[in-house]
Amino acid sequence: MVIAIDGPAGAGKSTVARALAERLGFTYLDSGAMYRSVALATLRAGADPDDPDAVTAIARDLDLSIAPGRVAIGPEDVSTAIRTPDVTAAASRVSVHPGVRTAMVDRQRTLVATGAWVAEGRDIGTVVCPESPLKVHLTASEDERARRRSAETGEDPEAVLAAQRDRDARDRGREHGALELAADAVELDTTGLDVAAVVERIAAIARERGLADGASS
Ligand code: C5P
Repeated sequence: MVIAIDGPAGAGKSTVARALAERLGFTYLDSGAMYRSVALATLRAGADPDDPDAVTAIARDLDLSIAPGRVAIGPEDVSTAIRTPDVTAAASRVSVHPGVRTAMVDRQRTLVATGAWVAEGRDIGTVVCPESPLKVHLTASEDERARRRSAETGEDPEAVLAAQRDRDARDRGREHGALELAADAVELDTTGLDVAAVVERIAAIARERGLADGASS
């Protein structure tokens, strides 16, 4: 069973999804880390992130293992390497290719086929797990999202905002796996809310729907 947390960059998905998973005793899946790993492998191979064939081949062959708190390519822990601004920009480009998406969606479905998960991304509720019994679409104002990202990475706020606009446009405009609201999603605006309040709200809905017995502590 999967609780899906989707939304744009900087809406607070990772922090909220991780805390929610811990609260409910579910396993956390960061699907963005998978696209970031494809981007890292693409840059390291000297391939063009906009070349669909080259990047799809890299995505299919990637020896990727993903566990809460650790992302590895082969034996190498790449958890930090996938967070650089270069990889962030390339991840947004490699993730538009349908072949890359199919390869990642297949892996995500295999991972979440058993057990209880909180999975975050852009297309978890719409494509990866349309049968999810609780889909949350997290949003926040553009300025707040950029401010959060800049506080996290130390980058210039204006540069973050410009890069964020580029990535938002690609996430929303791509033909496959575009960021869109699932018809049955709960929309939550996190502007001005702290993480604990957002997690409490989602946990309460999960309890109402009978998905999270004993998750009140
Ligand atoms: O969430 P995060 O910023 O780590 O995602 C990195 C990139 O991966 C995003 O720019 C987005 O385009 C892509 N992504 C995606 N589908 C997902 C998760 C992330 O296309 N389910």
